[in-house]
Order: sequence, then C-alpha cells, then structure tokens
Amino acid sequence: MDSNRYLADLLFDKDIKDFEYYEEKYPHRGLKEGVKVTRLAPSPTGYLHLGVLYSALINRMAAGKDGIFYLRIEDTDKKREVEGGLEDIVNGLISFGIVPDEGFMPDGEKGSYAPYRQRLRRDIYHSAAKKLVLEGLAYPCFCTEEELEQTRSEQESQKIRPGYYGKYARCRSLSIDEIKQKLDAGAPYVLRLKSPGNEENKVIFTDAIKGKIEMPENDTDIVLLKSDGIPTYHFAHAVDDHLMRTTHVIRGDEWISSVPIHLQLFRLLGFKPPKYAHIAPIMKSEGGSKRKLSKRRDPEAAVKYFSEQGFEPRAVLEYLLTIASSGFEDWRRANKDADIFDFDLKLNKMSQSGALFDMDKLLDVSKNYISRMSTEDVLNSLLSWAEKYDAALYNRLSGDKAYAAAIFSIDRDIPKPRKDIAKWNETAQFISYFYDDTFAPQYELPENVSASDAVEILERYAENPHLDGDKTLWFDSVKQLCSSLGYAENTKEYKSEPDKYKGHIGDVSAVIRTAVTGRKNSPDLFEIMKILGRDRTSSRLNRAAEYFKK
Ligand code: GLU
Repeated sequence: MDSNRYLADLLFDKDIKDFEYYEEKYPHRGLKEGVKVTRLAPSPTGYLHLGVLYSALINRMAAGKDGIFYLRIEDTDKKREVEGGLEDIVNGLISFGIVPDEGFMPDGEKGSYAPYRQRLRRDIYHSAAKKLVLEGLAYPCFCTEEELEQTRSEQESQKIRPGYYGKYARCRSLSIDEIKQKLDAGAPYVLRLKSPGNEENKVIFTDAIKGKIEMPENDTDIVLLKSDGIPTYHFAHAVDDHLMRTTHVIRGDEWISSVPIHLQLFRLLGFKPPKYAHIAPIMKSEGGSKRKLSKRRDPEAAVKYFSEQGFEPRAVLEYLLTIASSGFEDWRRANKDADIFDFDLKLNKMSQSGALFDMDKLLDVSKNYISRMSTEDVLNSLLSWAEKYDAALYNRLSGDKAYAAAIFSIDRDIPKPRKDIAKWNETAQFISYFYDDTFAPQYELPENVSASDAVEILERYAENPHLDGDKTLWFDSVKQLCSSLGYAENTKEYKSEPDKYKGHIGDVSAVIRTAVTGRKNSPDLFEIMKILGRDRTSSRLNRAAEYFKK
C-alpha cells in the first residue's frame, strides 16, 4: 500500500466517503453564464451588526433577481457562540427584507446544497482533507503549544518572519513510522497543509471591488483541521464555497490578506476558485480621524439600535446603498419610486476604502423615504413598531385608527410631501397635540404681535373658524380677518409699506397655530383644525386667549 493511503487510513474513519461522492451530490448549478451565486457566511458569535447587514445587502444585490444568494452559518467555534445569536442574525436579515434564496432559515434549512451549518458538515471536510492526504498534500502535526511558542520566539529573536513553514515546519518530515507511533500513543494532532508555495513568488489576482492585487505566495503549512477534527475558517471556506458552487465570495476586507492561502487551497484541492470581492468597512469619524465602526463602542453598530429607534428597514438599506455605491444616488434621482432591489449594483463601482457612517445623512434619507410612504403604510409600520417599543403610542393609535390615519394623511400623497418624520420614535412627540391628554402647548408669539393683539386675533377668529368649507374659503376668511384687524393680507404688501400695518398674514396664522398646536411649526394648519374639529379648535383658541390675557 502506498504510504499516503496508509496515512489516510490511520487518520480518518473508514466510512469517510471519497470526495467524488460530494462532487456528484452537489453538482454545478447549471446557471446561465454570468449569473452569480453569492453568500453570507456569518458566525453566530454575537448579535447582528451593521457590517453584517451591509455585507448581506451587497451580496443580495450582487446576486440580483436571477442569481442565488444563500446563508451559510459558520458555527465551528462553539466557545465564542452567543445564545440566540443565530436567530438574531437570520430574523434580523429577514426583517430588513434581505431574504436568502437558500440556506439556513428560521424554520429549517432550504436548498439542495445543505447542510448549511458548518457544524453539520464534518464528514465533508474530512473527505476533502483525506483527498489532500492521499495526494501527499497534508500531514498530521503533533507540535505542542510550547514547541510552537519556542519556534516563534526563536524566529522573533532572529528577526525572521514568524510561522510554520520551511525548516520550521517540524512535523513535515516525520516518517510514517514516527507518525504511527505518536498516533498509537494517543498524541493530539492537527492536520496541516503541506504548502508547495514559495514566499518569493507572487500571486496576482483581480479583486472585483479593489482591482488588481499582488501578494507573496503562501508557504505556510496552515492548519486545515484542528485537534478536535473541526476545520479552520480557511479550509471550510474552500470546501464549502466550492461545493455550494459559489461564484463570488464577497466579504469584509479583513480577509484580503488570506487570499493567497485561499487560492492555493482551491488549486491544491483541484477546485476552480471563485471571484473575490472585498468590501471596505463602514467607518466612523472621531476627532478628525476615521476608525472602523466598533461593536463595543458604537451603539449604532448593532442593527437592533435601528429597530429600537424605529428606522424603516428599507430606509436603512437605502442609506447603506448610498455609501456602498456612488452610482446609487443618481439612480435614485432618476427612479424615484423604484424598489432598491432593482438597482444594478456593480462591484467595480463600489467604494474601495472605508465609507463613513453619517447619522445626519441617514436621517435625511429616512425622512425622504417616509415622506414617500402612503398613509396606510405609515400607519401599519408605525403600529408594528409601537406594538413592540411604545405601548402607550400603540394604544393611542389603535384606539382610533381612522383618526390616526387622518393625522398621517396631512401633506402626504402629494407631489411635494412633507418630510418631517425620520424614525418612528419621533412620532409620539410629533403628534402629541392631536390628543388632548398630551397637548402641552408652548405658546409663542411672533415679534409683530403683542399679547393683547393675540387675544383680539384669537377671539375674532374663534367666532367663526371656517372649517366647514374648503381651504380657499378658509384662507379668504383669514385674509378678511387680517384686514379688519390692521394686518396685511400678504407679506409682499407688508414689506412695501410696513408702517401701514401691525403685521402680516403670517403673523396672524402664527397666532392661530400656536393656540391650536402649541407649536411654532406644524403641517397644514387648516387640515389640523379640521381633524381636531370645530369644538376642540374653539376651546384651544379660547384657552390661548385666556393665557395671553394674563
Ligand atoms: N465567518 C466569516 C466571518 O464572519 C465569514 C467570512 C466570509 O464571508 O468568508 O467573518
């Protein structure tokens, strides 16, 4: 028997299948030329963070409607696993509308390239590892932590590149008898790649986002299987992305330095390598410099933060696309109502260096987004947010949905809708004056109006607020009120002869507005008063008049 076969039999269970079995079980997908298969491969070692959502979005968009985007769970590190982390990731993605075509789903696995959880793929990794052993490309390494540390410090003191390579790869040259002896003695071991690479050689590849990249070839005998038989990230990546027939590996750019290892693994395993695309991270500006958004330091690094604040998921995605691709905003301007998933995201048009997370821009994008939503959609989204995060608001809105709908229909569904709400947690405050128990006026008068003038305006207006007809009639009545009280009917008139008037129509409306809403700014005043109704409007006008009498 040849010694590789002998070694493979020593190292692997007898029932490990030949790799051909898996090649047949997971055939090429037979997709049309150019159609992409992408994936998100999170480790459930924490909650869903913005970087993962960003990566998921880019992978989903890159696959487009014709391609396949799947979810693989990299759960080989049990120690770092967080309880509920897996569900948080999957449900979080789905709640943001990023739905994988296959992979791990809340109700089980979907797709014919299962299992999609690495923990369930042990036999597959062992089959691939056995293939390498059979070809003399992998060997067991029995080095202890102490021995590895000793090599490291030796390399350090001699200022030599650290690592397990060349003459430092001690177990590379163990004879089969020595191996057998150690195995018989039950010595723990890892399986290492016998790297044929040479540091002097260059690997050149084209990253779909970053362009042409040149790096030294890998000559390190990296670990393929750890001592408990679990694969390392590198090995699992090659095996899984090959067998799941991934065409594009789009991942965070912290992995870019590993590409020489990955390309080598694909080549030695006899696999066609995927295309790589490395995404620049989301950055945060701090004290004039840029740093990576930090899971520990930045609350907005957690996707949960956006849900709690009541951001519309689509608005967050829309914002992420503005930082992912410079072409997105032009596309949005030209396609105002299109679904974001219709945007053709080009990897080579993506930003190559870290994009800055800008909360003001997100708020702006969100306001625009919400302003384009229909009243019905606003109410539904708001209700489902409030049900989870603001019980008082939920009860208030659901107690009289028609009334709530009337509130949110003001200045909506028109060519230039009002952009006032950026996230649902601003709504309770925003609509408080529509409900008597939360109406807490902060009366404020314009410069031109004295308290006694305000009383006069309010009392005269209260005699007939003109809420039964249309807006033009109402406006005419306010104009009449203006002229009868010595205010100009329009600002232009006032500006040309300011001495002739006490003030102008804007001042008069401001007095009515402060009385009715308790605020300086509000949406359409006439609409507000119609919603409140004649009685409540009058009582507010009187209440304010009393206030200004004091
Ligand atoms: N599990 C790796 C991570 O979470 C996946 C990287 C990749 O996409 O290949 O960073």
